[in-house]
Amino acid sequence: MPNYYQPEIECASREQIRHWQDERLVHTVRHVYENVEYYRKKMQKKGVTPDDIRSVDDLCKLPFLTKDDLRDAYPYGLLAKPLSDCVRIQSTSGTTGRRVVAFYTQHDIDLWDECCARAIVAAGGTKDDVVHVSYGYGLFTGGPGLNGGSHKVGSLTLPMSSGNTERQIQFMCDLGSTILCCTPSYAAYLAESIIERGLRDQIKLKAGIFGAEAWSEEMRHDIEEKLGIKAYDIYGLTEISGPGVSFECAEQGGMHINEDHFIAEIIDPNTGEVLPDGEKGELVFTSITKEAFPLLRYRTRDICALNRTPCSCGRTHVRMSKPMGRSDDMLIVKGVNVFPSQIETVLLAQGYPANYQIIVSRENNSDLLEVLVEMTPEMFSDALSTVSAREHDLVGALKAMLGIYAKVRLVAPKTITRSEGKAVRVIDKRNLY
Ligand SMILES: [Zn+2]
Repeated sequence: MPNYYQPEIECASREQIRHWQDERLVHTVRHVYENVEYYRKKMQKKGVTPDDIRSVDDLCKLPFLTKDDLRDAYPYGLLAKPLSDCVRIQSTSGTTGRRVVAFYTQHDIDLWDECCARAIVAAGGTKDDVVHVSYGYGLFTGGPGLNGGSHKVGSLTLPMSSGNTERQIQFMCDLGSTILCCTPSYAAYLAESIIERGLRDQIKLKAGIFGAEAWSEEMRHDIEEKLGIKAYDIYGLTEISGPGVSFECAEQGGMHINEDHFIAEIIDPNTGEVLPDGEKGELVFTSITKEAFPLLRYRTRDICALNRTPCSCGRTHVRMSKPMGRSDDMLIVKGVNVFPSQIETVLLAQGYPANYQIIVSRENNSDLLEVLVEMTPEMFSDALSTVSAREHDLVGALKAMLGIYAKVRLVAPKTITRSEGKAVRVIDKRNLY
């Protein structure tokens, strides 16, 4: 039986959803135009006024917003409510330059929590569950988002945050955690650590909600098998609210976007042209219910596709495919687009653990792609000749996937540094910028 947190919304008719979107878009555009000078100027430059936006059909008239706009407007430039009405900020984990700071009123927090509650209930969560939140807390949206959603559902919430794996496992056993929320790479690490300690029978996990980084279907199967759970994908970004912008149902066939709050478009990243459903392109979001920090046509840099065919779970909201990776993560090696997720797919399909590192360097003006991969303990005990035969096979499989040569180095188990948050998969030594 499918479970819904808000069935009247999650299973609303398409006409109803469209009606909400039209009404809320018109309201939000006016709200932003009247209260945000930065955005008013952008609209004026494009010759658009709120009167031009009467329905979702007019969305394409609005200018795009990019991460650069958010950096330019830091910290208060895109704030649409008086600061005295705001109750929280969250911020992105930007590695360089200015961070992005997002503001929330209590209304915005409530809606965000509801989105996360929908994800938890879709993963089978009820008030009887113990929700183990191992996303980072603090400025990062992962911990606070799932924490709030779990409260809405009425589950017992364990605000574990990331790190301290020993304590994570101990609480998981002692308090009977049933739903694990964290990054997929940390879930894989926890699974490995639980098995190593012989505690697989002591855990009561039934589901996991994993997001905040790219992961492959192979990695999903690996985690599901090792922990004996069903693994659900969740998607979101701080700029738009946090996790819960979209989430997976039990069908595991794409993530339902909460369309009563967010309008999704797919565009050609080079021309900005809106692409038809089913085509792969850059995901663009317009938030239509937020008060403090509503963004219109925000370019996410995520490459994916939308699917409007009805889902057998009964939810009527459009589904987005798992992003192929952020276009920021995309590496250009020898002129070819390479996504770390493609490399991971090959490794897991060949039976390697998801512990790898991609190193890109430049020798004699030519790019060199190198993949460091950990062997399983069984592989490690093989003869040296078997190991080089394995390397040779992997080079072939990677070439078939990527279209270019990648050097492969198989290393001993546990030699690649483990991560307790987002995994560091790529090291680019080329100093191109
Ligand atoms: Zn569904």
